[in-house]
Parts: sequence; structure tokens; C-alpha cells
Amino acid sequence: MMTAPAMALEVRVSPEQPRLGETLSVLVETDGEQAPTLRARGRSYETFAVGQNRYRAFIPTTPLDTPGSFAIEAQSGDQRQRVDVPLGDRNFTIQEIWLSPSVNAITGTDYEFDRMDDLKATVTPERLWTGPFIHPSDGPITTPYGVRRYYNGVWADNYYHRGLDYAAPTGAPVVAAARGRVALVGTVAQGFELHGNTVGIDHGQGVTTIYIHLSQIEVQEGQMVEAGERIGRVGSTGISTGPHLHWGLYVNGECVDPAPWLGLGLK
Ligand SMILES: [Zn+2]
Repeated sequence: MMTAPAMALEVRVSPEQPRLGETLSVLVETDGEQAPTLRARGRSYETFAVGQNRYRAFIPTTPLDTPGSFAIEAQSGDQRQRVDVPLGDRNFTIQEIWLSPSVNAITGTDYEFDRMDDLKATVTPERLWTGPFIHPSDGPITTPYGVRRYYNGVWADNYYHRGLDYAAPTGAPVVAAARGRVALVGTVAQGFELHGNTVGIDHGQGVTTIYIHLSQIEVQEGQMVEAGERIGRVGSTGISTGPHLHWGLYVNGECVDPAPWLGLGLK
């Protein structure tokens, strides 16, 4: 009798040469029955079926990661496979920011941080978006992703600019970057003192977006929105130096560079 060949577990990561802040799209092919799980940086990531015996997870990287070999382990049943991805370094702009003591003293409320954390931790199995994401504002980008900062002369170790800032006047439209479900509406009145009026959208499979400092919110929690649908208006609520939209894209809880999601697409 022939013994069955060992169950194959094939892992492919795209892009092959990622840089800090980029999202790793990890495809796993298995002839096992179970959806494989992935581990990286001591964390596990759920995979979702994309075809027969094919599963995918998105693994975030950030400016705070250490460049070099980035290990991803896949496990399905008793089969394991390890892939080492060369995570490339990248120079992010460094800014020096001086805040007045009164502004510096505003640290946000537990309520807003709990709600934001809940949104970013959301992993809905269903994929709600299709195609590339779109810019949520027409305004020019004034602060790019990943900027590192000194605050009042002190290096902010855990800080990087978690998103893109768009300059636009108060009242300019803000649209959903992709199809999804409005999972968070937070207002200054409820305690969003740092973020200001905020909308959070769950796009499914661990992908969420946030829109903060809004002057007006035009959606309700639970509502489905399409890419390009208006969700609110630009403002300067919360801690903000002037009217602008801050937009952040999160993958499994970490803020990633939106660039690869905007038009280039991910396999
Ligand atoms: Zn910002």
C-alpha cells in the first residue's frame, strides 16, 4: 500500500519585498480540512477562504517594526510552514512639534480610546469591500503616513502618524474609502475630546478605517455604506490645528500605509 503524501502547506507572501508600513497579503494553500492560522511577531492571525483549499490573511507591518527578517508561520492541523520575508527599512519624515502645556494636558478619555480599540480589534469574517480603496477627501495630503515626531523636544517612541491628513475647508465632503459597515460613531459630546467627531467603518476580515475631526457626521452605526458615499464633513473638532481630515486604515489593529490599498490592489 502507498502511504498518502504528506499534506502540503504552501505559503506565498505579497509583496515579496515589503517595506515598513506595508500590508503583507499571505496566501496559504492546504489540503487540510481546517482554515490555517498564521503567527507573526508572537501574534496569531485568522485566515479566510478565498477559494477551494486557499486561504488568506492580511498581516500589518508598521514604522515601529524592526526591519530585517520577518517570520510568518502557518499551521494547519499538524502541518507547519515558515516563511521569512525581508522587511525593508524606510525613512519616514521626522517633525518637531511644540505643544502648549494646556494642549499637551489633553490626553483623551477612556471612553474614546475603548471605542477606538474595539473598532480596530473588529474582525468580521465576511469581506465587505471590493476593489481598491479611494481617497476619502479631495483635499491635498498635508501629512503623509508614518511621520515620526519629537514632542516638545522629546522623541515619541511609540508615535507615528497613523494615517493621512487631507487639507480641506470645514464642511467639505468626507466619503467612505470602501464599502463597509459603520461600526463607530463617536462625538465630542460623548467624550471624543482628542479625536473629535469620528466615524469608523468595518470593511471585514480585520480591515477598518477611521475618519476624525469631523464637523458633521451623516451616518449611523450599523449602516452599510458604499465606496464614495458621503459619511460626514471636514472639521476641526478634537485636538486639531485647523480644518482637515485625518484618515487611518487599520489591518488587524495596526495602522498601515494606505498607499498599496489605494488603486494598486492586493492579491
Ligand atoms: Zn493626522
